[in-house]
Amino acid sequence: MEILKFCIQEGRYFKFKDTIYTQLKGMPIGAPTSPIIADIIMEKLLDNSIEKLRYKPRLLTKYVDDLFAIVRENQVQNTLDTLNNFDKSIQFTLEIKIDGTLAYLDSEINRRGNQLKLKWYKKPTASGRIINFNSKHPKSMIINTAMGCIRRMLHTSDEVYHDQIKKEIFTILRNNDFPKYTIKKLIKKAKLPKNIQNPEKHFIFKSLAYVPQLSERLAKSDCYNKENVKIAHKPSNTLKSIFNKTKSNISNMDKSNVVYKIPCKGNVGETCNNIYVGTTKSKLKTRLSQHKSDLKQCHQLNNHKTALMSHCATSGHIPNFDDTKILHKNNTIINDLLLKCYILSKYRQRYDSTIRVMWTIPLIFTNTC
Ligand SMILES: [Zn+2]
Repeated sequence: MEILKFCIQEGRYFKFKDTIYTQLKGMPIGAPTSPIIADIIMEKLLDNSIEKLRYKPRLLTKYVDDLFAIVRENQVQNTLDTLNNFDKSIQFTLEIKIDGTLAYLDSEINRRGNQLKLKWYKKPTASGRIINFNSKHPKSMIINTAMGCIRRMLHTSDEVYHDQIKKEIFTILRNNDFPKYTIKKLIKKAKLPKNIQNPEKHFIFKSLAYVPQLSERLAKSDCYNKENVKIAHKPSNTLKSIFNKTKSNISNMDKSNVVYKIPCKGNVGETCNNIYVGTTKSKLKTRLSQHKSDLKQCHQLNNHKTALMSHCATSGHIPNFDDTKILHKNNTIINDLLLKCYILSKYRQRYDSTIRVMWTIPLIFTNTC
């Protein structure tokens, strides 16, 4: 319980536009514990409310925070009030059946005599858009998306509605440019039980960015067409990559695991083209202040920790810390040296070749090259 309380109370800070906020009510957004606790609370709410109701409902069930109940018409308000009395911050609104139908989750519940029949339901705002048949996506992805859509529509609907649903499937898929014969084939396939279409096999999936035409050929080539290896294509243009600006930027000085460069300022009347390239696992500002304090004693010491120190000690030059730039950011710097090689190769191509790079381990570096 202590750990749980800690997670709930400490997990609800978030930063937006450089301001830190605390969430005052409810479970922390995005925490893995939140849905579980919400579910436990809903269970408790239901148990508690049912106990207090004078007229027990014929049915009272839930899906996460959506309740479904069958109650006598004159008990509707009383039931709602009882549920809302549990906690004033958990309040329900009410939807009552119209002409024997009520939309609940993904389905429309219809009362037919003494029976309830389910039919796939789409919100009036649903656009009916899925991946267009001619879109430059892997064909399997286009087919699977349509298949998922068809299955959901058929499986949430009672047999009696299947003819009507098939017409809707046709309309939706035709609007997304699916050919008629493909739609027919998919509907036929969707009716088969799932395990017949996909016998269980254990594949190792390797993901590759999708390039139209090239990817199909690659997937068929010998290097990937091994028995247990399958290629999973991933699209390179995703909405997430376009709308990813929801988090505040970390300032360069607060970034860690970076490769950075410090240019040399030279000294009075003397310009210098040397730059120092270093890597750090700590925040850049921490590493820079280490450099600054090292520099203060570079004239007293013979054993210089960095190439920057020895350059400044021998030439009397001053590094231009204000012009420090991040060259590369990596989540885990596995090999210092490899990264430096990589940066140098990039760097040399982009800048004038007279720029010299100071290295902490110059000898090893030359040998590796
Ligand atoms: Zn210099």
